[in-house]
Amino acid sequence: MSDCLFCKIIAGDIPSNKIFEDDDVYAFYDIDKQAPQHFLVIPKQHIATLNDTDDAILLGKLTLTASKIAKELGFADDGYRVVMNCNANGGQVVYHIHLHCLGGRPLSWSPG
Ligand code: AMP
Ligand code: ZN
Repeated sequence: MSDCLFCKIIAGDIPSNKIFEDDDVYAFYDIDKQAPQHFLVIPKQHIATLNDTDDAILLGKLTLTASKIAKELGFADDGYRVVMNCNANGGQVVYHIHLHCLGGRPLSWSPG
């Protein structure tokens, strides 16, 4: 999608700090990290919100990519959080679905 920030990152038109990519997913560090470890996992296909997909395999792959990277970066055993925001009440700002993975310190529970 031409005016989507994350589609532009996938295309390389906007720089990112890439961690991993394959045919389906792209992972990169969040520009405004909320924890010592904070990266995003996104599908290469443009999907605006979680309400706009029923692709269980792709959604599962986003989650498993996050755990794989957390293991590789060495903070999986200590623990981490994965979260996907949806629409205004969920706090979604970028309308291309993305899984946040946060770790590297104890995370307090704040429903916002
Ligand atoms: P959300 O509120 O779930 O839509 O989160 C959007 C996330 O994208 C925020 O955590 C932003 O810091 C992050 N973000 C925005 N622009 C960029 C960028 N150019 N590179 C990396 N992360 C970004
Ligand atoms: Zn997009």
